[in-house]
Amino acid sequence: MATLGNPQNTIAVLQKYNFNFQKKFGQNFLIDTRVLERIIAAAGVTKEDFVLEIGPGIGTMTQYLCENAREVAAVEIDKNLIPILADTLSDYDNVEVINNDILKVDINKLAEERNGGKPIKVVANLPYYITTPIIMGLFESHVPIDSITIMVQKEVADRMQVGPGTKEYGALSLAVQYYAKPEIVANVPPNCFMPRPKVGSAVIRLTRHKEVPVQVEDEKMMFRIIRASFNQRRKTLANGLNNASDIPLSKEKIAQAIQELGVSASIRGEALSLEQFAKLSNIIKNMLK
Ligand code: SAM
Repeated sequence: MATLGNPQNTIAVLQKYNFNFQKKFGQNFLIDTRVLERIIAAAGVTKEDFVLEIGPGIGTMTQYLCENAREVAAVEIDKNLIPILADTLSDYDNVEVINNDILKVDINKLAEERNGGKPIKVVANLPYYITTPIIMGLFESHVPIDSITIMVQKEVADRMQVGPGTKEYGALSLAVQYYAKPEIVANVPPNCFMPRPKVGSAVIRLTRHKEVPVQVEDEKMMFRIIRASFNQRRKTLANGLNNASDIPLSKEKIAQAIQELGVSASIRGEALSLEQFAKLSNIIKNMLK
């Protein structure tokens, strides 16, 4: 089977199987070999690695992964793509295609069975609407992860990478940076896909921290505080926390916690760094004891 990363071969496969793109699954297939090579290089895939690919499509990136990794598991939700993948991946014996919704797959079990519980690499060109639940699900469920190299909407990649003081900074930036080091490795214009998406994309690598960057007594509490702070962006941190039903503290106690943090009473949540959120959550946790 010829490699797929160009328009001619992709069209040939789509025509052979009379494939209809499904909008609801966010199907935009890569047709640019340079982008594919960039992704594989950024993911640092070697013959030692077990790689989980999410959403293989017709198998364009999967072919590259099979060439470079020890073993690949590719999870694809669209059953119409399964016979196509059997064909485009027929040259490889180190790949298993799993026809399922990634949000329903027990990835911990997969990592245990296929990689002896050692950290796995995740590579994905995802539909944009499930980017956040997938990334957060992977981190929060404590799946052993080495890195996630992922194509996302350019704007989302920016949000993951920025710090306080920028308008893109928010709960996603903090959640990603708590678990991993984000690096944008390529910007990818719409003409690298078939069909062309309306927005620009970027490849971002999230390398999981070996040790957490901040000391947090209660992760759930910190994320509750972060969510409450960004729920009402225009309001002060104090107002955001006062309005949060899952942070059971009086107005006075919240003012005291903010004072203890050593910042102005009128500060907005968007001005706080990850370290400051961690410190604030430890202060609040202690008040609730
Ligand atoms: N990796 C291919 C490529 O780069 O050409 C396809 C990328 S396309 C943007 C996203 C793929 O994810 C599609 O094949 C789609 O059917 C699949 N997909 C969408 N939602 C999914 C889910 N919840 N679980 C697994 N696969 C999903």
